[in-house]
Amino acid sequence: MEQNQKIIIIGGGVAAKEAAIAARKQDPSASIIILAKEQYLPYYRPFLTEYLTNDLNEKRFFLADKNFYHQHKINVYLNDPVVSIIPEQKKVITQSHHFFIYDRLILAMGSYNFIPFPHVLEKKGVFSIKTLDEAKEVKRFTNIAQKAIIIGGGLLGLEAAWALKRKGLDVTIVEQVDRILPLQLDATCSIYVEKMIISKGIHLQLGTSVQKILGESRVSGVKLSNGNILPCDLLLFSIGVRSNTTLVKNIGIDTHHGILVNEKMETSIPTIYAAGDVCEFQEKVTGTWPPALLQGKVAGTNAAGGMMLYTPPISSTMISAFETKIFSIGDIRQNNTDNEYQHLSFKDSKKNIYRQLYFLNDQLAGGILIGDIHYSTKLIKGLQTKISIHDAKILFDM
Ligand SMILES: Cc1cc2nc3c(=O)[nH]c(=O)nc-3n(C[C@H](O)[C@H](O)[C@H](O)COP(=O)(O)OP(=O)(O)OC[C@H]3O[C@@H](n4cnc5c(N)ncnc54)[C@H](O)[C@@H]3O)c2cc1C
Repeated sequence: MEQNQKIIIIGGGVAAKEAAIAARKQDPSASIIILAKEQYLPYYRPFLTEYLTNDLNEKRFFLADKNFYHQHKINVYLNDPVVSIIPEQKKVITQSHHFFIYDRLILAMGSYNFIPFPHVLEKKGVFSIKTLDEAKEVKRFTNIAQKAIIIGGGLLGLEAAWALKRKGLDVTIVEQVDRILPLQLDATCSIYVEKMIISKGIHLQLGTSVQKILGESRVSGVKLSNGNILPCDLLLFSIGVRSNTTLVKNIGIDTHHGILVNEKMETSIPTIYAAGDVCEFQEKVTGTWPPALLQGKVAGTNAAGGMMLYTPPISSTMISAFETKIFSIGDIRQNNTDNEYQHLSFKDSKKNIYRQLYFLNDQLAGGILIGDIHYSTKLIKGLQTKISIHDAKILFDM
């Protein structure tokens, strides 16, 4: 491997940070540079919803401080997005007209929140949270807003709804599917959580979508496909993400929903790697933190001359809202017919505890924990070792 190779990383999230650290471990003499669009060092993005109701604890929020990057000889350039990549010259150019030459390039530009209505974010009161600056804006606005509508009943939508409710707003969640958390819960558990949400005074509009956003310069409400008109002065979109692929549109790299990568996080252009929300591995853009972290590590290691293969972690979700916790992992009968599955359930209505485990051919395939999630470690281990129904009954007190 050549000496003093130049590794450039585009992005400023967890995938970028992990890629830089892994590259440094692999090659102590490489020049490593992170080029980031945001004005902040990489931070723990999942905290942004909690930030709506809590103060920011910088030690916990930032993935590392300035000194850390300095000690690891990682140069971070903030607030200056890359606007152009020229693979033939192995060159990238930033908005402020600085250019950088690389031997290896890692793309970690993450994703943006999908908004189906063009220019709607220009209306006062319409938001979507992806960055700390956006979360700050929403937080400021909650001091004057009274009625909020959250579009999207997934993980982030529910957490945001709970945060706004706790700030004293009247909150309605609109979900296109006829139940909440359609990706994380089975139908029984969705109903269970829906009751919990309603009991906290949050309104649900399920099986309907937004047809029109009302109000001229500021939002005044939404018209739904079921005919209902709901007034609001704060509208928050939370209906999924799309990979940030605009930057690579004309450079001849293979993309689908994201930038296509193999298990080494190599793209179709030799010397260019991709990791995190921006990439697509085995037809999937994961859009979650643990895969982004791991992919960053793999990309950084391989870009610096090492050898590491990516194995996707078992997908899991943890939600903390409505004074409860919900943990969902693995295959919970979402995409298959019911018949093949066996399941075990446990319910303690007084304590608001619910456990549901799914088995395929007498092997644990997935599970949902509501209320009491201290079984989550056992659940992860049980999935790895594919325990039987008999063993699960004992292990999970069912
Ligand atoms: C509010 C919120 C809550 C979440 N909660 C959870 C959760 O509970 N659990 C979970 O698993 N996941 C959660 N996620 C998702 C998780 O945060 C992402 O999957 C993860 O951050 C992806 O990391 P990344 O590094 O790939 O991309 P990102 O974190 O999106 O970072 C990409 C960075 O690249 C920068 N960038 C983009 N274009 C350029 C450019 N041209 N030049 C330079 N820089 C550029 C962006 O500005 C951004 O800073 C949440 C996300 C949000 C927004």
